[in-house]
Amino acid sequence: MFSKILVANRGEIAVRVIRTCQELGIRTVAVYSEADATALHTVLADEAVLIGPPPPTESYLRGDRIVEVALETRCDAVHPGYGFLSENTDFAEAVEAAGLVFIGPPPAAIRAMGDKVTARALMAEAGVPVVPGYEGEGSLDDFLAAARDLGYPVLVKAAAGGGGKGMRVVEREADLPAAIETARREAQGAFGDPRVYLEKYLPRPRHVEFQVLADQHGNVVHLFERECSVQRRHQKIIEETPSPLLDDDLRQRMGEAAVAAARAVGYVNAGTVEFLVDEERHFYFLEMNTRLQVEHPITELVVGVDLVKAQINVAAGKPLPFSQADLHQRGHAIECRVYAEDPANNFLPATGRVLRAVEPVGPWVRVDAGVTTGDTVTHHYDPMIAKLIVWGEHRLDALRKMAWALDHYIVLGVTTNIPFLQDIVRHETFRRGEVTTDFVERHFADWRLPDEPVPDEVLIAAALADLFEATASINANGGAPTGSGDPFSPWNQADGFRVGQRV
Ligand code: ADP
Repeated sequence: MFSKILVANRGEIAVRVIRTCQELGIRTVAVYSEADATALHTVLADEAVLIGPPPPTESYLRGDRIVEVALETRCDAVHPGYGFLSENTDFAEAVEAAGLVFIGPPPAAIRAMGDKVTARALMAEAGVPVVPGYEGEGSLDDFLAAARDLGYPVLVKAAAGGGGKGMRVVEREADLPAAIETARREAQGAFGDPRVYLEKYLPRPRHVEFQVLADQHGNVVHLFERECSVQRRHQKIIEETPSPLLDDDLRQRMGEAAVAAARAVGYVNAGTVEFLVDEERHFYFLEMNTRLQVEHPITELVVGVDLVKAQINVAAGKPLPFSQADLHQRGHAIECRVYAEDPANNFLPATGRVLRAVEPVGPWVRVDAGVTTGDTVTHHYDPMIAKLIVWGEHRLDALRKMAWALDHYIVLGVTTNIPFLQDIVRHETFRRGEVTTDFVERHFADWRLPDEPVPDEVLIAAALADLFEATASINANGGAPTGSGDPFSPWNQADGFRVGQRV
């Protein structure tokens, strides 16, 4: 087993990995940027090394520097988390070339799945259904002819894509040439690779993905599905498992396809095979994420497997301790992604200092947070500040628990999407389990913060925050009360403090 792991990430996922390492008795090394000197992951790790200024390209994306730090601090493995370098083949290779273990799949599997055009071809060969499309090698005329065959609307996608970048829906032929040009430019800028391809744009699909886990001894299992159809701008906000859509037969067929997809690229470690399911319940391979996924905790709660622990054990060469027949789904889990953003203003990222964060605590309520009271949310990184995850004996139980947990999650100082999430989980369509990927655009396009009085709990939290700060400064100043001059006090802000909570 490893004795020391470098965690090449920040925020909640770095904290998540560090916690499991602590449990296993493995020492950890955090890397951090100048913006994260007091961040949770920096503080929690056994050692922390400053790797550069705030912009990711000068810190968290500096693979060369991170490998150097891993060697200097005598680590034996590197966990990449998600995002940043987690799906960077060059980084995985550099880690291995330095004699360290990359806690993730073999570089060849990352490469094969990282190129969506290659992945689609490999999947088709392995008998996994793919969304009808055109691989985009030819001229503009070839694109036009292919789109005509597919039928509009079509989706222009970047071969190297991710995070919704370089993706364009095209409703009619006249718009296709310009959409290809824009998507190429965007893809070149974001990924350094201008290649684009076409997919038929499925009307109102559902996004259902399967967690897979493979060891170095040829064992591959799936840990069932996650339904991720609640999205804004094609990015997930709420996930749940089991999917209300699947029955045993479809679940089994999709699970087998996910395992076949993993086997087709010689996959090892944890990965996710994403599918779209159309209105006739046909499923199609979308892509494979060759890393731990943001929404992995709901699988952990329902299947009873710690995925980070499994990743570490697999990377250390241990065989999977279970077979497919040993794995079952028990109860229901839901995750809400808490973003520092303004859902009433085009989801504009919000920044600022968190004056007070009070997380809900209760039976089967889990909060994976990367930001706590006193931390500053900057524009440099992803606006997701925490994940709220609940488990219930059945779906209705989980829905009730999530509504309760959101009502008791208080974030002061930074605008969050918590009130928006509250409205989604109470929406009839969501409660019935009938959400398709257009749900948010369809029902929440004109969403506004409800004009309700600030609830007592929030006022009390704010008053206590003020009192604590005043007391702290009295103590620090030998008795001189300076609390009222605190520039961060919600009471001293002329523009009114922002409340990310509603009861
Ligand atoms: P990215 O990797 O950029 O996030 P994905 O291929 O994973 O892009 O797709 C993200 C989301 O975009 C999907 O969950 C779905 O909502 C939508 N989407 C992608 N492809 C299609 C398609 N062919 N038809 C309809 N919606 C799609």
